[in-house]
Amino acid sequence: MSSSLAHVIRLEEVWKTYRVGSEDVHALAGVSVDFPQGSFWAVMGPSGSGKSTLLNLLGCLDRPTRGACFIQGQPTAGVDDDALSEIRLRHLGFIFQSFNLIAQLSVRENIELPLFYLGWDAERSRRRAEELAALVGLQERLEHRPNELSGGQQQRVAIARALANDPQIILADEPTGNLDTATGTQIMEMLQSLNAQGKTVIMVTHEPEIAAYADHRLHIRDGLIDRIESKSQ
Ligand code: ADP
Ligand code: MG
Repeated sequence: MSSSLAHVIRLEEVWKTYRVGSEDVHALAGVSVDFPQGSFWAVMGPSGSGKSTLLNLLGCLDRPTRGACFIQGQPTAGVDDDALSEIRLRHLGFIFQSFNLIAQLSVRENIELPLFYLGWDAERSRRRAEELAALVGLQERLEHRPNELSGGQQQRVAIARALANDPQIILADEPTGNLDTATGTQIMEMLQSLNAQGKTVIMVTHEPEIAAYADHRLHIRDGLIDRIESKSQ
């Protein structure tokens, strides 16, 4: 494999087809795009255009029906579930619109969850969770449950959890969708600072003010790339 491929996310002619009743729904219909290491993207498009499907493929939550997807040079099409989880754990952090924290677990336990799956020992995980909680300003909330926190605080826990394994790629599906403007701005500033540290950030949003944080805007429509707009450097 060429060394350049190892540092990008690449989609080649990717299709994702869902069977709905007796019909095939082509959520993605031949998408090819490179996301270079360290770039910051907003994926935009109407509801139902395939944005979440695209992000789920990038996030190794799913595989393409057809075509090739490479995450840091590793193919995800046709690999088994264990290999897919391995790529996810090693390279990716995921942030969701509805935070997706586990209600029964404390902030600390939520942040430690990926580390548990990676086999970290308890003491090392504990230190890492404390370091990340401090990074997102929640060191005083480590023993709280998610429902004792505001929306913005919950999203900061989700960011800490996404960073636990020090991934090079952060994926976010409408990360500010459930937050007020001021809180959303805080979250975007965090994503911007992670990008400035060299992480690749790819987020779905339909809000132009949020998309403005990204360097590239990828517009999709009916499962196809409509256009890409990039800020002039
Ligand atoms: P967006 O995030 O842009 O709103 P999605 O990627 O969620 O769009 O959906 C794209 C298309 O694929 C839609 O027509 C949607 O109904 C369909 N779709 C998405 N997920 C599934 C699924 N699990 N099963 C069947 N159809 C799906
Ligand atoms: Mg969606």
